[in-house]
Amino acid sequence: MRPVDIIIKKRDGLELSPAEIRFFVEGYTSGDITDYQASAWAMAVLLKGMTDKETSELALAMAQSGETLDLSGVVDLALDKHSTGGVGDKTTLVVEPIVSACGLRVGKMSGRGLGFSGGTLDKMESIPGFRTNLSKEEFLNQLKKVGLVLTGQTGDLAPADGKLYALRDVTGTVDALPLIASSIMSKKIAAGAQRIVLDVKVGVGAFMKNLKEARELARIMVKIARRVNRKAVALLSDMNQPLGNAVGNALEVKEAIETLHGGGPEDFREHCLHVAGNLILLGEGVSTLKVAKQRAAAALKDGSAFERFRQLVIAQGGDVSYVDDPAKFPAAQFVEEVPSPRSGYLKWIDAKEIGEASVDLGAGRLKKGDPIDHAVGIVVHHKVGDKVQKGELLFTLHANDQTKLTAARQRVLDAHQWSARTVKPLPLFYGSVK
Ligand code: URA
Repeated sequence: MRPVDIIIKKRDGLELSPAEIRFFVEGYTSGDITDYQASAWAMAVLLKGMTDKETSELALAMAQSGETLDLSGVVDLALDKHSTGGVGDKTTLVVEPIVSACGLRVGKMSGRGLGFSGGTLDKMESIPGFRTNLSKEEFLNQLKKVGLVLTGQTGDLAPADGKLYALRDVTGTVDALPLIASSIMSKKIAAGAQRIVLDVKVGVGAFMKNLKEARELARIMVKIARRVNRKAVALLSDMNQPLGNAVGNALEVKEAIETLHGGGPEDFREHCLHVAGNLILLGEGVSTLKVAKQRAAAALKDGSAFERFRQLVIAQGGDVSYVDDPAKFPAAQFVEEVPSPRSGYLKWIDAKEIGEASVDLGAGRLKKGDPIDHAVGIVVHHKVGDKVQKGELLFTLHANDQTKLTAARQRVLDAHQWSARTVKPLPLFYGSVK
């Protein structure tokens, strides 16, 4: 087999065989297939798509590019969640500790920033020392002893996704349904959890722009889970405006900590309770989603979720004094508060524009392997439907470069639209796929 023939076959819109998919994944993981060949192939997949069978084979081949964990002998039941990627989506930082505080075990493999969407690993690395490259043994030990784990793709676990993910981020090949489904499900299969909640984002700030595409992505991921005897539920959630207020790595960690203390933005808190509730329900300790969400809310109120977050940070070598005193996180050199240029009801706060403005400030990558600036980002102070007065605080910019700050100011202003008439708030969720 030759890589170029597989690229050409996909370029011509033909179905790849399981053997060809495995050959390509194994070749790219070992380094025999180059970055430029993998980018051409990823672009062909983006343009020509894949059948369900190809997507499912791709997910399995990527999962099996490293170790796949069998957790059955380690803990009774392990849970996992994954978001398809959004702006201001720091949900894992709150949901994982809540579910752990409710007595369940969560073993999660996350990703880095992808395109305009932020990544959980980048956010957690705002905490000095926090390790996101656990080995298989470390993952298993921590799941057993601490009950919660948050790591990334490593040489051991889903290495094919680690390489392809970084390549897609900078080659315009992120928003391909088969690549998203296989990337997510390869990590879920490799990390071994038996029950999974998938948070499928839909809207301008998501890779799936409409409900039809989001349902399709949800359907294929749930189908892949079934193929490997895992139970998955996919929630369809809004990503037209940023989730919560903060966008940018350390800013989001601080907002997650506020939420773990029982505060935080209302939409973000509600979103987390719904995702956590669904995970707790899958864990089978409760009979209804309502009771599961009450348990989740109680874990925020009594401080047990916050304590679980602390334990997670300590277990993975992070400096917990930052969690205890978030004022320690590095601050950007320029912090500018921008007032609303007019009065009215906010009818649109474009999540994608805000995500891209944050990447341009330095919170994401332009090239593979670029360092990121953990301190920069944007805090929006309103939600769609809010009434704002001219001169009232609209958003705050955190920047380390004056030119970038000026560009971001205009871009984020342009991302806001007003109406003279009342505007309905956006829903948080649009349903689920089981
Ligand atoms: N999250 C992932 O892990 N992979 C994607 O491709 C998109 C979101």
